[in-house]
Amino acid sequence: MRGPFDLHTHSSVSDGTEVPADLVASAAAAGLAGIALTDHDSTAGWESASAAAREHGVSLLPGMELSTRHGWQSVHLLGYLFDPADAGILAETERIRHDRITRAETMVARIGHDYELEWDDVLAQTTPDATIGRPHIADALVAKGHVQDRGEAFATILHWRAGYYEPHYAPEPLEGVRLVRAAGGVPVIAHPAVSSDRILPEDYLRRLVDAGLFGLEVHHRDNSRAGAKRLLELAAKYDLAVTGSSDYHGTGKLNRLGENTTAPEVVERLVAAASGWAPVLG
Ligand code: AMP
Ligand code: FE
Ligand code: FE
Ligand code: ZN
Repeated sequence: MRGPFDLHTHSSVSDGTEVPADLVASAAAAGLAGIALTDHDSTAGWESASAAAREHGVSLLPGMELSTRHGWQSVHLLGYLFDPADAGILAETERIRHDRITRAETMVARIGHDYELEWDDVLAQTTPDATIGRPHIADALVAKGHVQDRGEAFATILHWRAGYYEPHYAPEPLEGVRLVRAAGGVPVIAHPAVSSDRILPEDYLRRLVDAGLFGLEVHHRDNSRAGAKRLLELAAKYDLAVTGSSDYHGTGKLNRLGENTTAPEVVERLVAAASGWAPVLG
């Protein structure tokens, strides 16, 4: 297998700005050998992304970024090459997506007391099957002229301290790892060190390893430098794979495709560890 691979990208099926086929075309244009499509809590982009990957001759690892939570701490779990029809995965992702809608409606109602904003303004920023999140509320706030861009929205109105925030349902990371493995997939913790003091406690990480955790996304712009160093130590100690990726969201974030990548040998091991779904190999 040749590289480079970018194992964390988002399309308009969640909070990216490109439809899956355009995202794959962008990856080909960026000179990537392959990408993983990892929309939040949804596999709805797999089919069109796979067709585009065959067309462009790039590799595609269908995946997902599953929302989980440990106590107050939000933990994003990347799952690759699992069976998208698995009953456990289907039930859990449907529950999360449904609660994300209720939660977004709650936030919009609160924001609506202080700013001109309605639920229809948010719906206007999404496609019918999209996983709804704060980025879509951000886009509605931009369209209404309340903020300049998503970054400003997250720094102000959508910040959890701003008074409008509401959490949404999410399972424990341990449950997430079990679900992905039970569906034949391969779990990797996304950006585990967005702040160096926020890495999961080591005894809990050990339980994730025992349940089948495959790797840690060490090379990601949101991991702190000290945190990434600590993650490398933990990866060596627990024999976890080290991945790198962009977390591309189209024009929704500054992250550029391929700004961090994963070694082809790691991708080979990841594919070999999966039994739920086959990658498209370019
Ligand atoms: P939610 O899961 O609905 O709480 O929204 C979190 C999502 O918002 C994450 O998946 C990020 O991709 C996105 N996000 C977080 N901070 C920012 C930011 N500053 N600018 C753009 N998108 C962001
Ligand atoms: Fe996102
Ligand atoms: Fe994430
Ligand atoms: Zn992401």
